[in-house]
Amino acid sequence: MPIRTAQRVAQVKPSATIAMSMKAAELKAQGRDILSLSMGEPDFETPDHIQQAAIEAIRDGQTRYTAVDGTPALKDAVIAKFQRDNGLDYERDQILVSTGAKQSIYNLLQAMIDPGDEVLIPAPYWVSYPDMVRLAGGAPVTLHTTMDCDFKITPAQLNSAITEQTRLLILNSPGNPTGRAYTRAELEALGEVLEEHPRVVVVSDDIYEHIWWADEPFSTLAQVCPSLAPRTVVINGVSKAYAMTGWRIGYAAGDAELIKQMRKIQGQSTSNPCSISQAAAVAALSDSQLCVEKMCTEFRKRHDWLVPALNELPGLTCSAGEGAFYVFIDASEAIERMGADGDGEFCEHLLEKAGVALVPGSAFGAPGHVRISFACSLDTLKDAVSRIGEALPAG
Ligand code: PMP
Ligand code: GLU
Repeated sequence: MPIRTAQRVAQVKPSATIAMSMKAAELKAQGRDILSLSMGEPDFETPDHIQQAAIEAIRDGQTRYTAVDGTPALKDAVIAKFQRDNGLDYERDQILVSTGAKQSIYNLLQAMIDPGDEVLIPAPYWVSYPDMVRLAGGAPVTLHTTMDCDFKITPAQLNSAITEQTRLLILNSPGNPTGRAYTRAELEALGEVLEEHPRVVVVSDDIYEHIWWADEPFSTLAQVCPSLAPRTVVINGVSKAYAMTGWRIGYAAGDAELIKQMRKIQGQSTSNPCSISQAAAVAALSDSQLCVEKMCTEFRKRHDWLVPALNELPGLTCSAGEGAFYVFIDASEAIERMGADGDGEFCEHLLEKAGVALVPGSAFGAPGHVRISFACSLDTLKDAVSRIGEALPAG
């Protein structure tokens, strides 16, 4: 007899980004020549000085439980980072360090959402937001955007989506999967709408903050609209900026009482994030930031090569982004010409025929699209683009 599982789990899908990356890894293990452009994870090694800090932490006996919400040293490094990069001031009790930004977001949703509560999520969105909302018993409400509007929501669109049930808005800029970012002026305009709705809390997922090449500097809502700062929770982490995805350190900053409730959930589930990774994250956030700049320069080079190269392929259209390491491609024409049944079958076909793993746009709430990650060498990208080109029917 099959073991009965909870209804809660029946409502969620496995993460499509992780599923596709695992599939690509399985095929590789079978000896297939696969280029995996499905995972959003920097291909660089974690910088040496950060590795060194972790080794020293082990030798120094930092191998025990720490405070559930992070060591004082790491909280202070996070506070200093917010002051330096974003002009935001926090106290230690406003910071929660978690096992990745993913866990901070999860804790936040568990701490805030009751059945029937609505969470506004602009689409295309990171695959995990809606499912994490469902796990918390809430209702994800999608705000659709298209390439024509640079994949950004407008103030009017936000205004008309807010109801009595709206508890949260999740902003992610630069965004996964689009690489598009809100300008300061655009954030101000969204902020004006939010001013009128004091019950709505904002999650600003800034995890791609440092992978950034727009003309104007990166801005985050709490900095641009200080009056919204008390009800904005900023999410960030070391995974993307410092090539530290496996170390699992992310953090949240916001209202002390809300952070306390998030900490309670963490204390009853995973407790503190890895003590050694926390020591490494102190080095990442506090020491020279040159490594971040170097990696960003590389990402930009790849982006600048990739966008025009993809646009030359028959049936694919994409636009330039301001940051992150993804290009989100409108593949609707190519899908139709291929006779594929949607973006899922299109990606399967590319995996089979071209040996290139991409993630179907449906997983991000945007059917007819596919996401390509350029967190891989330029040579790999060139190979991938040429293989995709060969697998696509001509126009
Ligand atoms: N937010 C977004 C938009 C992401 O793409 C990711 C990547 N997994 C995360 C949060 C979580 O990152 P991590 O848990 O590795 O800190
Ligand atoms: N955020 C990355 C991605 O979108 C890592 C995988 C995940 O956690 O979804 O590919």
